[in-house]
Amino acid sequence: MKRISVFALSLIFSLAASAQTVKHAVIVPDIPGYVTLKGDMHLHTVFSDGTVWPCTRVEEAVLEGLDFIAITDHVELGLTKKIRDGFFNCDRNKSFEIARDFAKNCGVIVIHGAEITRGMPPGHFNATFINDSEALSAASASTKNHVEGMTAALREARRQGAFLVWNHPHWNRQAPNETVWRPEHSDIYAAGLMDGIEIFNHCDGYSPEAHHWAVERGLTIVSGTDAHKMLASRVDYLHGAFRPMNLVFATSRSEEAIHEALKAGRNAVFAEGKVYGDASLLAPLVDGILEIVSVTRHAKGVSIKIHNGSSIPVQLEKSGSTDYGYMRSITFPPGADFTLNVTPLDKGKKLDEPFSIGFKVMNFFVDAGVPLDYTIQVK
Ligand SMILES: [Zn+2]
Ligand SMILES: [Zn+2]
Repeated sequence: MKRISVFALSLIFSLAASAQTVKHAVIVPDIPGYVTLKGDMHLHTVFSDGTVWPCTRVEEAVLEGLDFIAITDHVELGLTKKIRDGFFNCDRNKSFEIARDFAKNCGVIVIHGAEITRGMPPGHFNATFINDSEALSAASASTKNHVEGMTAALREARRQGAFLVWNHPHWNRQAPNETVWRPEHSDIYAAGLMDGIEIFNHCDGYSPEAHHWAVERGLTIVSGTDAHKMLASRVDYLHGAFRPMNLVFATSRSEEAIHEALKAGRNAVFAEGKVYGDASLLAPLVDGILEIVSVTRHAKGVSIKIHNGSSIPVQLEKSGSTDYGYMRSITFPPGADFTLNVTPLDKGKKLDEPFSIGFKVMNFFVDAGVPLDYTIQVK
């Protein structure tokens, strides 16, 4: 009897512990003129070769405080066999429809997408903001030739108004020795059938080649988890990790505004503590992350109290300034408070007037291997 009581008590405690919600919403500031919307552009479900129901993708997004997700099931894989085996009786739009309907009361925007899945070249492409996955499937299936099938599916997606992304160009299975931009990709790009490129895919990590191609060719950089299993199997939420995500700088919180922003290239990628994007977006983002709480002038110089209220760490290294003394290297983890002391190297000089001090942000990249130049303005 006593043993049962102890067991019952421990069960109650363990249930109470598991019922606690993990507070884990990602916090990213807006930048002037835009709201910052966080989202995942590449997700699979049981309707192709994934293992989770579409609602789970929405619940995962709620847990992480994401604003949007794209359901991008393969149009070639999985569903036909499941229909034939009697598991489902539906078409390829069903996974999006289930997620969209479930998300109506959750505040998560669900984008209708599909992954067109061919051999290399040209590999895999995501078409998002589409309205009919079946038409993409039919176009891809119209020929065994990979380039022709992909081009036909991309043209159909373009007809539907899609945003078109070359996925994981560095996927080991399709690019075993090196990441290569082939003539076939030039043809697709020249035909206006490539808007963006995945520079980060959770299965394959960061691709410096893809990042540089995006900068060179004016493609929107994109991140996708490409999750097939539940995300908790890959992301260490209990130790504060987040999935790789897109930071879309949109004019409003709507699907149309996300689409417009992606087409215009207003996207940054936040993945594994690093941020990738154009300097015009990243500099105001760092402004928003590093909140200057107070500026105190005193006999020796100036003390600047800075707070990082976001989920994004910032690593600064002194750069450019020879007139002032200040720490050469500073790391601001999420939630950090730090006081930066600045002294004039010319002892006779005072810091009464506004001045600026320069840094490189060592975990923010505007191109492959190129950190963001950043200036703190002291008023
Ligand atoms: Zn793929
Ligand atoms: Zn995929």
